[in-house]
Parts: sequence; structure tokens; C-alpha cells
Amino acid sequence: MTNLTHLTITEALDALNKKEFSAVEYTKAHIDAAAAAKDLNCYITETPDLALKQAAESDARRASGKAGLIDGVPVAVKDFFCTKGVRTTCASKILGNFVPEYESTVTANMFAQGAVMLGKTNADSYGMGSTTGSSAFGQTYNPWRKTNDPNTKLVPGGSSGGSSAAVAARIAPGALGPDTGGSIRQPAAMCGIAGIKPTYGRCSRYGIIAYASSLDQAGVFARTVEDCAVLLQSIAGHDPKDSTSADKPVPDFRAGIQGGNLKGLKVGIPREYRVEGMPKEIEDSWNKGAQWMKEQGAEIIDVSLPNVKYALPAYYILAPCEASSNLARYDGVRYGVRVEGKDLKETYELSRAQGFEPEVKRRIMIGTYALSAGYYDAYYVKAQKVRRLIRDDYLKALSTCDVLLTPITPSAAFPVGQNEDDPIKMYLEDIFTISLNLAGLPGMTVPTMLNADGLPLGLQIIGRPWDEQTVFRAARGLEIAADFRALPARVQTKMAA
Ligand code: GLN
Repeated sequence: MTNLTHLTITEALDALNKKEFSAVEYTKAHIDAAAAAKDLNCYITETPDLALKQAAESDARRASGKAGLIDGVPVAVKDFFCTKGVRTTCASKILGNFVPEYESTVTANMFAQGAVMLGKTNADSYGMGSTTGSSAFGQTYNPWRKTNDPNTKLVPGGSSGGSSAAVAARIAPGALGPDTGGSIRQPAAMCGIAGIKPTYGRCSRYGIIAYASSLDQAGVFARTVEDCAVLLQSIAGHDPKDSTSADKPVPDFRAGIQGGNLKGLKVGIPREYRVEGMPKEIEDSWNKGAQWMKEQGAEIIDVSLPNVKYALPAYYILAPCEASSNLARYDGVRYGVRVEGKDLKETYELSRAQGFEPEVKRRIMIGTYALSAGYYDAYYVKAQKVRRLIRDDYLKALSTCDVLLTPITPSAAFPVGQNEDDPIKMYLEDIFTISLNLAGLPGMTVPTMLNADGLPLGLQIIGRPWDEQTVFRAARGLEIAADFRALPARVQTKMAA
């Protein structure tokens, strides 16, 4: 019964079914592990009482033969999903006191399958960032440290750094997050775990606090590809409450992933991802990934995405435009923080000035500017056209191969504070992730190796719209070949104890 927190979700489900331990014991192990890892600041709000209550209910369901798909599995939920009766802040001061009256569809789906909620995780405020440093609730730290510099604290990536650090630190076996421009895939890579953003429309956005509605999509974090498939299965599906969720059947995501055989699979290597100045360790890890997939039976082909180089500027027009519109609702009247002014206008101004974090204000200003009369056609409309060209490029490339293999981050996790003085440098962190959100495609991070500093690196598998099954199959093949088993030193020490 030791080390329950080291089991994968599928291993734990198996053991729960065999009554090797109860959901209450399994949950308690994670609550205790979280209590011992407070220094990482993964959670904004922990919900241990709720978790234990849900775990006891899960044990009762299992005893009566009515267990759901993930019954008794504790999950950490990014604080962007509205959870009825549990404070939901979006990591911003302006929603610091917001307790939703309703449940997001994704969390409701997960609960209907028996999930237990451990708490609400930290992130960059409104999802705007790549380090979890812009949160109103303090920085989250990566459980990994450089082997030769163990005292320097590193970022966990972002925006969902609380979710990724929690799963990597073994204080949650799985986690949820929306991904607008890479917020699942980039932090997963920096923390050495797996994560998938499915096709836009695969999951409901109802009850997810909006950043950029045409890009936001819910997805999952876990330590293995198969665990991601199970978790995604539990949240996906059509929702009449969200007109952008697709009325399509959800396939069995685990079908076809056994064994990791990639025979017959065509894997495209998009040459434009070989960006100027790419660090050698990233390029080497990418080449290695292609070689591994080949060894598993895949055929590797060269493909081209000529317009993908415009993804970063297009995203940093479109996402702020949508954000400026979505965030107009925070006016000190209907939600969250209110700072009384001498009249209504001043109340709006003071509430927004004091409630929003600096990066959120920057993006609202960029978006408002780009949408204003006179600039709308030059910026917003042009970026929308570029977005279409990028999607067309991907669909064309994916008509000649089944999936694409690319790097996921331009570097391993970096020290807290680095890049913070330069927003453009920070935006470059998203270079390999955001084009998928513009194109609406599924993308998955697979952890593959450690770099020379002992930090994890991952690779990205990109699939056709609605073809998460093939993404999972390809990712499983890569996972088997890479055989990544390294653990952060702090987790290793606990295991040995
Ligand atoms: N780094 C991206 C941004 O700042 C992350 C977006 C996201 O997926 N929330 O916009």
C-alpha cells in the first residue's frame, strides 16, 4: 500500500476494482502528498473535505457495482472551470471572491464518471502567460531542478503550471486545463508529463472562463498516454449548452494504442518548425523522436507548412482581440472585485484597474486597439485570413500523412523571473503550440528525455481534426520507444524514504 501516488490512473483503477485499496485511501494519499508539497504552490484552493466525501461515495458506488469510467480517481482542476459552490478565480484578483452557482460541463462530465476533485490549480491570470508567474496567487514552481544547480527554482510552464506541476510532483494523478495557445502542452513538456488538447469542439466550453473563445479548448494532463486517453474520454462530448461543441460521437480513445506498433503510420516532419536559432538539444530530441517512431514501424516523410511562420503574430492579434471583448464583462458590477468610485464610470475604471493583472491589461489594450475602427481590417481581419491559410496548410500536410511530429517548447524549463521583462520573448515560448489552436487541431505532448541539465524535454504529436485516436496511437508508440521514466529528485527521495 505504499506509494499510491505513484500509480498511473489505469493501474489505480485496476487496483480499486480488485479492492486492493479504497478510493478514500487513494484520495487521502494525494491529500497528504499535497500537504507535503505546499512549497510548489500548485493549488489556489484545495478541497480535501469535498474530495474525501466524493471518494467515500465512489467506494459505495463500486461496492454496488455501479462504478464509472474513472470512479475514485482524484483530479486537480485548473481554476478556470466553474465549480458549483467552490471558488473559481481564473488566477485573477478580479475574480478572487467568485463562487459559481453552476458547474462547467467538463467537470460535470468528469464527476458523472466518478472523479474526485482535489482542488483548483494555479495558472497565469486568465491563461495569459507561459510561466504561471502572472497569477494573483503567486508563482507555482516546477518540481524539477537542474542537476548541477539544484537551488535555482524553475517555472513549470504556463498557463496551466499548477496542473502540470501537481501531476509531475505526484500530488495528483491527472489534471484538467483549457488550452488556448499551448497551456496544456507547454507546461506538460516542462514538467515531464503527457497532456492533450483535443480538436476544437471535442469538449464543451460551457462554464470555462473565457480567454479567447475561438481558441479555448479543454484537455487533460496525466503521466501516461493511456491515462490521458481515459481522462479525455471522461470529459469529452457534445453539449447543447455550447454551440461550438460538436455533435459527433466520441470514439474509444484507447482503441488501437496497445503495443505501440506504428506499422503503416505516416509521420510528417514539417520543415518550417526548424526555426532559426533552434537550440541544438531541441533539434536533437526531435530527430531522435523521428528515429524512435521509425523503429516502431512508422514511415517518416517531409512536409511543408509555408504559412505557419505567421502563427505567432496572428495569434497575438486574435487572442487579445477576443480577450478584450470577453473581459469587458468584468466591470465591478456583476462579478468579483468592486472598487467604489464617485460615479458608475469611475467604479468601472477603478475596479478594472485594481482587479486585472498587468499582462491582462496589456492584452486588453492590444485587443481593443486592433479592433478599433480604422485598424480592424488591417489587424483583425488580416489575422483571420492568415489563420485560414495556416489551417489549410495543416489540412494539406495531413492529407499526405497521418500525424505530424514536432518540438513542443523552444527550451526546457527556465529560472523564475527569466524573460519577464520582455513580453515578446515570452510570447516566443508559444512558437510550436499556438498554430494548432488557430487551426483547431488536436495536439499532444509526450515526455521523451532529459537534457544535459537533467530537465525533461517533450515532443508534440499533431493530428487531423477529430482524429485523437490516431494521435493517441502515435503518442503511445513514441512513449514506448522513449521509455521516459525519470522523476524529479524531490519525488525520487520521497519514494526511497
Ligand atoms: N502562452 C499563451 C498565452 O499567453 C498560453 C495561452 C493558453 O493556452 N492559455 O496566450
